[in-house]
Amino acid sequence: MCSGGGLVAYSEANSSSGVSSINPLEDGSQKKRVVVLGTGWAGTSFLKNLKDPSYDVQVISPRNYFAFTPLLPSVTCGTVEARSIVEPIRNIVRKKNVDIHYWEAECFKIDAENKKVYCRSNADTNISGKEEFAVDYDYLVIAMGARPNTFNTPGVEENCLFLKEVEDAQKIRRTVIDCFERASLPNLTDDEKQKILQFVVVGGGPTGVEFAAELHDFVSEDLVKLYPKVKDLVKITLLEAGEHILNMFDKRITTFAEEKFKREGMDLKMGAMVVKVSDKEISTKEMKSGEISSMPYGMVVWSTGIGTRPVILDFMKQIGQANRRVLATDEWLRVEAKNDIYALGDCATINQRKVMEDISAIFTKADKDNSGTLTVKEFQEALDDICERYPQVRLYLKNNQMLSLVDLLKDSKGDVAKESVELNIEEFKSALSKVDSQMKNLPATAQVAAQQGAYLANCFNRMEECEKNPEGPLRYRGEGRHRFRPFRYKHFGQFAPLGGEQTAAQLPGDWVSIGHSSQWLWYSVYASKLVSWRTRALVVSDWVRRFIFGRDSSQI
Ligand code: FAD
Repeated sequence: MCSGGGLVAYSEANSSSGVSSINPLEDGSQKKRVVVLGTGWAGTSFLKNLKDPSYDVQVISPRNYFAFTPLLPSVTCGTVEARSIVEPIRNIVRKKNVDIHYWEAECFKIDAENKKVYCRSNADTNISGKEEFAVDYDYLVIAMGARPNTFNTPGVEENCLFLKEVEDAQKIRRTVIDCFERASLPNLTDDEKQKILQFVVVGGGPTGVEFAAELHDFVSEDLVKLYPKVKDLVKITLLEAGEHILNMFDKRITTFAEEKFKREGMDLKMGAMVVKVSDKEISTKEMKSGEISSMPYGMVVWSTGIGTRPVILDFMKQIGQANRRVLATDEWLRVEAKNDIYALGDCATINQRKVMEDISAIFTKADKDNSGTLTVKEFQEALDDICERYPQVRLYLKNNQMLSLVDLLKDSKGDVAKESVELNIEEFKSALSKVDSQMKNLPATAQVAAQQGAYLANCFNRMEECEKNPEGPLRYRGEGRHRFRPFRYKHFGQFAPLGGEQTAAQLPGDWVSIGHSSQWLWYSVYASKLVSWRTRALVVSDWVRRFIFGRDSSQI
């Protein structure tokens, strides 16, 4: 990684805003300026895969490291140490032959008109006016991730803990131990101790479930030995507004997890939506009866999904996407109508409306005789084509929603297995538009973000060659709106660690495995996915340490 010495200069160019500007020196270099916002899964994957030295890359992120988020729940209880799952970004890009400069700052404004991003250093520079600066770009890669979504529930921001960043996981770890120490103080009644040892997890998605399982293991394997007098007063409650936890997983996994948690004494409350959190109590509304009830708590962890960062919301307003939930891109990850701005990972989504139009077009094309109907064979071919182009639709099919659409057709047209049965395309399209609104975006996962980063870096690696040889090799000339092939997500499966050395795995082909063997698969996959040999060695040694000595419960 370059220090930035001969290549960048600070100037007081932007005097109107009083913000200094960072531009490449006029050294005759024709390098295109690429600004990358964020050093998470998407940004880091982009940087790791960028090989073409013809770019001058500026990376801006308030954290100078990459964090391996799938192991954050393990950090909350000391199964793995925080430092074991992070790698300095300077280490990651050090050996690259591309000019990459890192600035520890957060972007607070994107000015697409003037091709600038405005940033604020999070270090206290002590030099007035120097903490803000602007960076010019030719290409902008937005990979800023997301923030926790509180759904504006009163009191959540002030009273709950989140599990999004490394600092959050460390704070949870300190709070858990603090609750046990406080509950062990003299002169407290059992009732008071019980309140302090009431741990509430809000959200039955993979993160909430994994954290609840980690906490249960921490308490039952380690803390019961250290705090024997209060061990029977501990209660872990998991609140989920929907009817089931892990509802994006196969039903077998959901059922197994719910039964396991209940067997272990965890308090599972489904159909309970949190409406308010005060400094002492959490209030929930029963979805069926509408009844509101409150319970005291010692610690609440809020894990109900992700929301959009303010800087992205502001940018969306600028470019006419104010009515959207997240930044919409096309299938080449370009922000719609902005050819030089790309958005990847949790802060963006591929515009489903366009995808649905493509899907409709596939059905129309499959109708070879233009009769307005498809034979079952044609229908199935079209469906295969769609599944290949849009793996998220395949996921969707597996999650039953689109299957019910197929059932609908079956019902109206008889036995689909018979070759002779014909399906009306218009009927199918109108059914499709009904599920359009429910159609899920690509999941907000590290898997998607990392694949998008790698895809975009490959496009950038080929960009120059494509520009020089517009009629060059076919593989550089995808169809349609862009010269590269559109981004295609490849799903490798997902895990749900359930505690007690048991994990549920749902792998491609709908292969489900639950138990100890999947836990070993989880260990090996996650160890292999860690970003460096250093973090791999640290995490594996943390696991071994935990097996031998248990988790550390020191309050530091
Ligand atoms: P992030 O990885 O969140 O990175 C965002 C980056 O932007 C960070 O570097 C941040 O510092 C930076 N940034 C923030 N604000 C600014 C700003 N204003 N200016 C510049 N930079 C900024 N996914 C899986 O696939 N498998 C799992 O097992 C899994 N487990 C998870 C467990 C937990 C506890 C959590 C929180 C997430 C988990 N995920 C998992 C989801 C996964 O972490 C996210 O989908 C992934 O991190 C998204 O990558 P990203 O690059 O979009 O965002």
